[in-house]
Amino acid sequence: MKVLFASSEIYPYAKSGGLADVADALPHAMQKDVDISRVMPLYGFMETKGLKSVESFEINLSGISYDIEVYAKNENKISTYFIKAPLLSQTQNLYGDKNGDYGNNDLRFAIFSMGVVELALKLGVDILHLNDWHTALAALYIKDKNLNIKTVFTIHNLAYQGIFDFDSLGRIGVDSRYFHIEALEFYGRVNLLKAGIAFCDALVTVSETYAKEIQTKEFGCGLDGFLRVNKHKLNGVLNGINTKIFNPKTDKYLTYAFDKNSLSDKYKNKVDFIKSSTLKDPRKPLFVMITRLVEQKGTDLVVLSMSKLLKRKINLFLIGEGGDNISEKFEKLSDKYDNFEFFRGYDEGLSHMAYASADFLLMPSRFEPCGLNQMIAMRYATLPIVHSVGGLKESVFEDSMACGSGIVFEKFNKKEFLDAVERALKLRKNKKKFDEIRQKDMKCDFSFRKSALKYTEIYKKILK
Ligand code: ADP
Repeated sequence: MKVLFASSEIYPYAKSGGLADVADALPHAMQKDVDISRVMPLYGFMETKGLKSVESFEINLSGISYDIEVYAKNENKISTYFIKAPLLSQTQNLYGDKNGDYGNNDLRFAIFSMGVVELALKLGVDILHLNDWHTALAALYIKDKNLNIKTVFTIHNLAYQGIFDFDSLGRIGVDSRYFHIEALEFYGRVNLLKAGIAFCDALVTVSETYAKEIQTKEFGCGLDGFLRVNKHKLNGVLNGINTKIFNPKTDKYLTYAFDKNSLSDKYKNKVDFIKSSTLKDPRKPLFVMITRLVEQKGTDLVVLSMSKLLKRKINLFLIGEGGDNISEKFEKLSDKYDNFEFFRGYDEGLSHMAYASADFLLMPSRFEPCGLNQMIAMRYATLPIVHSVGGLKESVFEDSMACGSGIVFEKFNKKEFLDAVERALKLRKNKKKFDEIRQKDMKCDFSFRKSALKYTEIYKKILK
């Protein structure tokens, strides 16, 4: 069985969030069972040095041809292909800059999707595994041309749908007969995610809970009805993490390596972390939050709760990248409170040190398809405090006997969030129990092995 896994981001080449982590770890975990390679765009900020030029061809969208060059790299026994194309490869970021999303993202990712289909044909793959709206058009192009390739489409976050004006159809090479409610039409506009849902052979989202949630009005982002129509092919498969990269015993970003038998070395990281910040006193409980600064992640709830939260004898360190509005709020709060520091931006190394140093991770997501932070945190003996939603519901339990033990609150409001923090502080006072729970969490299996087996079953089923 030959599979090509297509994603707009793959760690470490380009990353904006969890999708890159998944696109890194999942194909590696599937290598044992299937012949799998990956494909992503070659963005303007990426170098071709160290890559091999392997293919060049032309694709055509709405009568305009685009020259595609494919580069490849083989690393850790897996081939990754990089598509270099006009528009797609000229940008310095993945999706946009400080002025917002790039205006031509419809065409950029249509070029990518068509390039992926051509590459899949050249490689002779049986299955094309597509991820999120950036690759969704490939499912339509394959059905439209009646090609002998099966498609799996994974939705990592339904909130991002790739919605464009009607004129977009004329640019992306899609016939107007696909502009109807069972295909791309969405309130008079073009919705690229719908192409993936409508035309894939198997549909997946990243937890069983989220698979149910997105069929409801509350979480359906306007597509709940359409997902109910397509539920016969919808599956929920929980993500995992790359346990080689996120391993406190070998993590090169940490000052002190540690494992479950050397939690005192975790504390040494904390001392170091606090020393290099504006925070004081490593003996205080350290809460961290590492996130994109968007409403999904509960940033508004954190802002609302801040004055009460910071009255407690705790330290809070937030690493976040996001818009000016929310960032300015956190900047002001960090000027006001000396037990709160805000690092604005994206920093892989700092995030690893934060996971390793903290006592607790705050993850009060409004919704969370799967979430990776909570699994990473537990691997570093940091207990997650989560809202009971989506994948968090399947990976964190307020039960000291469970694998994946943390603090869980049910209703998304300030009171429940602050009560959860109180429970966390109380738990930490019992050092013996706290350490036992942390040691147990470190041993949990957060690898992609189970998910890889489920995906392999899905592949087999659609090839029958
Ligand atoms: P999402 O994909 O919705 O952003 P996930 O929980 O699935 O959320 O994955 C987030 C990933 O991105 C984790 O690896 C997390 O550590 C990382 N991350 C998020 N924001 C930052 C940041 N500002 N700096 C460093 N890493 C970050």
